[in-house]
Amino acid sequence: MIRSGGCLCVGVGYEVTGDPAQPVACHCSQCARTSGNYAVMAAWPASELVLTASESLAWFRSSDSASRGFCTRCGGNLFWREEPEGDKIYVAMGTLDQPTGLRLAGHIFVGSKADYYEIADGLPQKPGW
Ligand SMILES: [Zn+2]
Ligand SMILES: [Zn+2]
Repeated sequence: MIRSGGCLCVGVGYEVTGDPAQPVACHCSQCARTSGNYAVMAAWPASELVLTASESLAWFRSSDSASRGFCTRCGGNLFWREEPEGDKIYVAMGTLDQPTGLRLAGHIFVGSKADYYEIADGLPQKPGW
């Protein structure tokens, strides 16, 4: 199965093939700072990502172990990958075209969760990765 997606201004577009590893919501402070809230991401093998538009895609090295891909025009938060040379691409699920046919599987880094919301969906929670 091929799923497509992109940012709000469509300067970045992509296709991913196959089903991702379990989609999780990450509550770490870095996802909050870049996405504006917690980030729901799903992982595909990096080789399964094809960019169909990339004119406004840029990468920000957010830590020693991660880079984040975003749109320089609309600010959309689309991807992150492990550094150096991670073999997976983590895709922000809100950028996938609907319907995704996917379900959230759980929550990670709940120990870093912001104080203005609760996690109440009954899904598994992990303090870290
Ligand atoms: Zn954009
Ligand atoms: Zn995170």
